Amino acid sequence: MKIALWLTNELKNIGLGNLKFNLEMTDKFISEYDHETNTVYISEYVDSVVGKIGRFMGGRPNDVKHSYRHEIGHAFLNSIWDVTSHKRFIETFGDVDQDYNEYGIYRSVLLQHDNNYVSKYAQTHPEEDFAEVFAEYMEASGCVYEEDSPEVEKKKDYIEYLIKKYGS
Ligand SMILES: [Zn+2]
Repeated sequence: MKIALWLTNELKNIGLGNLKFNLEMTDKFISEYDHETNTVYISEYVDSVVGKIGRFMGGRPNDVKHSYRHEIGHAFLNSIWDVTSHKRFIETFGDVDQDYNEYGIYRSVLLQHDNNYVSKYAQTHPEEDFAEVFAEYMEASGCVYEEDSPEVEKKKDYIEYLIKKYGS
């Protein structure tokens, strides 16, 4: 599977070659991550017009690879879940126990973009914020929007710290 190979290389490049997760295709419109089974589901529409509309509706950057990286961000956070109760995590991303709106991805398109976040979707929940910043961190090209705000830089620094601490 080409995606699996690409992801393995990307993860090695950032120092997370040890991250374990399952990878499956799904016929849902958007890619997603399942905590229970540690599975990254890649939408089979991800590269299609439907996939593009889905990403637009989700207020995500319109790049297929961004979706993959985002879901890997969830897998990484899940693998180090204890950090979500650490002071630095809560100060940086917030409380993961806050309500999760499963339709947040579609509603986020209506939000005004707040510079303290890398994307509109990141604004919907601390876990999505983490996944979005992680996706941006993985991109060698850097920021999704024109320039990162100091708040976003802080989030990236923390993710870099976590990768160095828990990765290999
Ligand atoms: Zn997500």
